[in-house]
Amino acid sequence: MSSPSADAFAQWRQRAESLNIRSQAFIDGRFTDALDGRRFDCVSPIDGRVIAQVAEGGAADIDRAVAAARRAFEDRRWAGLAPARRKAVLLAFADQVARHAEELALLESLDMGKPISDALSVDSPATARCLRWYGEAVDKLYGEIAPTADDTIATITREPLGVVGVVVPWNFPMIMAAWKIAPALAAGNSVVLKPAEQSPLTALRLAELAAEAGIPAGVFNVVPGFGPVAGQALGLHPDVDGAFFTGSTEVGKLFLHYSSQSNMKRIGLECGGKSAHIVMDRCQDLEAAASAAAGAIFFNQGEMCTAGSRLVLHKAVKDQVLERLVALAAGYSPGHPLHPATTMGALVDHRHAERVLGYVDKGRAEGARVVCGGERAEPVPGGAYVQPTIFDQVTPKMTIAREEIFGPVLAVLTVDSEEEAIAVANDSDYGLAAAVWSDDVSQLHRMTRRLRAGVVYANCYDADDLTVPFGGFKQSGIGRDKSLHAFDKYTELKSTWLRLR
Ligand code: NAP
Ligand code: MG
Repeated sequence: MSSPSADAFAQWRQRAESLNIRSQAFIDGRFTDALDGRRFDCVSPIDGRVIAQVAEGGAADIDRAVAAARRAFEDRRWAGLAPARRKAVLLAFADQVARHAEELALLESLDMGKPISDALSVDSPATARCLRWYGEAVDKLYGEIAPTADDTIATITREPLGVVGVVVPWNFPMIMAAWKIAPALAAGNSVVLKPAEQSPLTALRLAELAAEAGIPAGVFNVVPGFGPVAGQALGLHPDVDGAFFTGSTEVGKLFLHYSSQSNMKRIGLECGGKSAHIVMDRCQDLEAAASAAAGAIFFNQGEMCTAGSRLVLHKAVKDQVLERLVALAAGYSPGHPLHPATTMGALVDHRHAERVLGYVDKGRAEGARVVCGGERAEPVPGGAYVQPTIFDQVTPKMTIAREEIFGPVLAVLTVDSEEEAIAVANDSDYGLAAAVWSDDVSQLHRMTRRLRAGVVYANCYDADDLTVPFGGFKQSGIGRDKSLHAFDKYTELKSTWLRLR
């Protein structure tokens, strides 16, 4: 007799075979091929199979998507609706996502290799929640009246930017897109989204679900394609009012160029990280700290901008935490992503797996010691899998302590004081997240204040809620996603003066 999880595994694989995958661009309310007819292979990293041939948008396709978005914005078919109307449509969009949660999770898992259980419990529901949250928020935002002199009234109101370009990576394709499109749409903008070339499938399905929910034609367009072509065209487009990017710091910097070379469009950036996860000697619950540290680097195959990729251990607790971590790493052994028991899936593609393994080689060559993993894995032939890997004896100048690896590779650094822990943690070009574990409340406060990061966790890691802003200090980015603060990115403040007669 087969087990329930074996049955579920078989069912997911069967559903994968019969999926109707959307593979055309979505422009002005309908699916369409690229103007020059080009397509690119969408490869599943699960087994290296081509699962779709996706329209390869070029500059001309970005042009027509921006033109459609501009028309939709200027005739006010969306921006002109009462906020309560936009809310109703966004809630319907969220309902559509919730209704198709399994299909979307399956697409995500097939496209970029994450475990189906994670896609189902995290990606699909978080996407629906985000659309709902910004839909709910938009009819509760009031303008201001400034305290000017008696003979004047000055109002301060928020208006949509206009046409918004969004470029996202492949690690959480739907969630990264939702964090931007939900507040952008709620505020009344028209959007052109370019998903990552490795993971275009859910974005195309989302566009269709949005249209079914009542988002008018031209308001939400999706143009798949390559970064240096379609992404660049969007960044440089003279009729795009703002470009909002999540991805690497290297490409994030290009967006600043695009803006300066074109129309000074507003730029928002959520970029890389090399986050420090500190465990101090005054932490008693080392079990909880070790388990959080494992999740912080092995969840989502380590393909997380907030990965706690530098584990900074006080020497008094180091051996205990490391021993526990190695045991926990065994629980993240890569498996078939469509098996419901799998906790670590495939990396996004072979090129990325090679890049990650290149860092492992560098770590060894520079003198760090592999305490577990460090090799490819092959739970499914043809797939892009890497074992969960832990390096001990890492020093702050080593490459694996400085560069973002974006894979399941942890660098353990040892310190012997609070001062040294802070110095090591802040010695980075990045400043996305940081964490500290200690049972001494004064120490926790001292340390969280001094950590130079946009998101700081105390006695936890990766706490998450839409009510809390997300983004980085230093070269981790400019601006914040999530919370009401996100509206700052997608709106202009307008000051209007009225002289009383
Ligand atoms: P990436 O190479 O920077 O790509 C991100 C997006 O930019 C993709 O859509 C990509 O298109 C596009 N792109 C690439 N080159 C471009 C160019 N010359 N002009 C315009 N667009 C271009 O990043 P990735 O490797 O996909 O994703 C991993 C990175 O994302 C990591 O650094 C990670 O830390 C970061 N990330 C940050 C956050 C955050 O919130 N801070 C969240 C998630 C991920 P292609 O598909 O053609 O490459
Ligand atoms: Mg793919």
